[in-house]
Amino acid sequence: MNFREIAYQECIRVDCRKVYAVDEVLTGCLECGSLLDVKYDWESGPAPESWAMFQDKWSQRFDPLARSGVWRFHELLPFALREQIVTVGEGQTILQQADTVSRYAGMKSGNLFLQYEGMNPSGSFKDNGMTAAFSHARSVGSQRAACASTGNTSASLAMYCAVSQQMKAVIFIGSGKIAYGKLSQALEYGALTVQITGDFDDAMLRVREVCKELDIYLVNSINPFRLEGQKTIMYRVIESLGWEVPDWIVVPGGNLGNSSSFGKAFIELFELGLIDRVPRLAVINARGANTLHELYENRSMRWNDGRIDRSIQQQYYQELDADQKKASTIASAIEINRPVNLDKCLRALDYCAGVVREVSDQDMLDAKAQVGAGGIGCEPASAASVAGVKLLREQGIIAASDRVVCILTGHQLKDPTATVAYHTTDQKKFNEVLGARGMTRANYANRAVAVSNDLDEIIRAIKIYG
Ligand SMILES: *Cc1c(COP(=O)(O)O)cnc(C)c1O
Ligand SMILES: [Zn+2]
Repeated sequence: MNFREIAYQECIRVDCRKVYAVDEVLTGCLECGSLLDVKYDWESGPAPESWAMFQDKWSQRFDPLARSGVWRFHELLPFALREQIVTVGEGQTILQQADTVSRYAGMKSGNLFLQYEGMNPSGSFKDNGMTAAFSHARSVGSQRAACASTGNTSASLAMYCAVSQQMKAVIFIGSGKIAYGKLSQALEYGALTVQITGDFDDAMLRVREVCKELDIYLVNSINPFRLEGQKTIMYRVIESLGWEVPDWIVVPGGNLGNSSSFGKAFIELFELGLIDRVPRLAVINARGANTLHELYENRSMRWNDGRIDRSIQQQYYQELDADQKKASTIASAIEINRPVNLDKCLRALDYCAGVVREVSDQDMLDAKAQVGAGGIGCEPASAASVAGVKLLREQGIIAASDRVVCILTGHQLKDPTATVAYHTTDQKKFNEVLGARGMTRANYANRAVAVSNDLDEIIRAIKIYG
């Protein structure tokens, strides 16, 4: 199949729907400014008719594109030619049944699964999308690619640039929190790192201006090609469940790229007849960065068949400005108040009968410790998904017998500071040291035991505590 011939870009706004060629470099519709989708004319290419073709690829793992957890599903994101694709083996991730976490969240044993995207080459799910956007950037001949980032997007971009030696990475970070694991990656992979005074939302506005001015390829998740790669997280979940669909997908919400791409994945899979039902979607905000929760649950902002009532959002953003309210949470990866994919996320929530919840820093850090106790590490933002399931169980919205998949978006080693502080810090200094909001108690702290360098004392300590 000639992949590129069936792909094009289209404005998501129903009363616009302007169409653009697949190799145009755009971050929004030129007519109305709305987000763009990558679309496929499935009719004029051989659309996948069953999952069997993907299962068969396991026997071709000598081929890097068959091995990649993203490009193994190339036929479901057919916008790039084989020779344009840059892969580093992203998406070799696992769906893990997690009974420790299941108990914690109040689920029936065997019914809660963690999709561990921290296993990606740069340690977060971002690689799923980056391989797609990067391959697109390369196919259109870009020399430089840029992003604003709370850390993981920049680590991923820097990695693809370094591996391919084909493009220069320019990353914008705010002057606030950035986890050291993430910053260290960008620096070591050789990205030009621009630290501006301001937070993520400020950096996001700037990078859009700079990319326009200097004709740099923008890889933030307003880039529709990134979301194409992220769809494959859902394909792998379905694959791991023996090509079955779970009841719930629960995901942290930051810029809302993941939730948006999951919704698109399900819309397409249903259209193609590869699934016969759609899971419900739960998007979990941090309480200190809860724009989606506020707009969706409290102010009833809805997709409304693509006729979104924009005034609800404008009103809320004016209030944020008036109160000089900035996003603030320990979960730096979702410390975002103006999510760029809001519209697409509303579409996903509409299609997947979605709910949105907010959880506190306390909830996330405790949930993270429970994930860790089960032997899988994640960063604070990722644990929002587990904290979200616990809350939705308490509210009776998720049933104990439902089959639930939480997306663990990033690896534990991304942010060791948060983990060590949780397990060691004096309770009184918690919020100060952690930069957390409203932590009162590390409920699952595993404190180090201080003993003098004396054999008897060491033995006594082990007998007491072990
Ligand atoms: C980027 C990121 C998120 C937020 O994902 P969105 O698609 O922007 O909503 C959550 N967790 C981690 C670890 C991330 O890197
Ligand atoms: Zn438009």
